[in-house]
Amino acid sequence: MIADNIRKIELELPEHVKLVAVTKYHSLEETQAVIDAGVLDLGESRVQDFLKKYEVLGDKPRWHFIGHLQKNKVKYLIGKTYLIHSVDSLALLKVIDHESEKKGLITSILLQLNLAREESKSGFLEEELKNVLTVIPKYKNIKVLGLMAMGPLTQNNEEIRNIFVELKKIYDRIVEESLSNNIQMEYLSMGMTDDYRIAVEEGSNMIRIGRKIFNR
Ligand SMILES: *Cc1c(COP(=O)(O)O)cnc(C)c1O
Repeated sequence: MIADNIRKIELELPEHVKLVAVTKYHSLEETQAVIDAGVLDLGESRVQDFLKKYEVLGDKPRWHFIGHLQKNKVKYLIGKTYLIHSVDSLALLKVIDHESEKKGLITSILLQLNLAREESKSGFLEEELKNVLTVIPKYKNIKVLGLMAMGPLTQNNEEIRNIFVELKKIYDRIVEESLSNNIQMEYLSMGMTDDYRIAVEEGSNMIRIGRKIFNR
């Protein structure tokens, strides 16, 4: 079932779009089934759950951390993630840099944006981004590989599309500005089970899918 669901998603994805299977809330066995189906990019949103899986599965999958991250938990993640999607404050950025430096590592991250300005979501507001981008060069132990956002919580597809279009514009602008060598835009992480088709149409190259993979 998991393998069939993955196959269906993969068949409709353009080749340049990377599928991250969101395994949060799912057991080790189910997570292993995703790996067996050939998907090695896995998304987790809680540090504790992630560490349990990491203990068993180690570095075989590429781990994507997608949940809200508390500063005091950063140290447990450093060195284990392929990409942290959910960097949503300068304070967090600073801690990730510091903990990475202690371990002699460079940690790849995405900046999470809250374009829909929803109270319930974290992420930088658009007007904060400029300042964030100007301070990033001083954080030598992080590498910004792109942007992440969630679509707004609505059934209105046009509203969702507008947000994704806006995110793509911001992404392209940062690509053009090429501000510093620790900003190397590669990933535009947008699209989940309910809105990934729209996201891909509007330029996403990384989708994060949970429910559609595990639905019976
Ligand atoms: C849970 C989650 C997903 C997956 O959502 P589905 O609707 O289950 O596909 C993607 N991104 C983030 C940040 C999430 O928290």
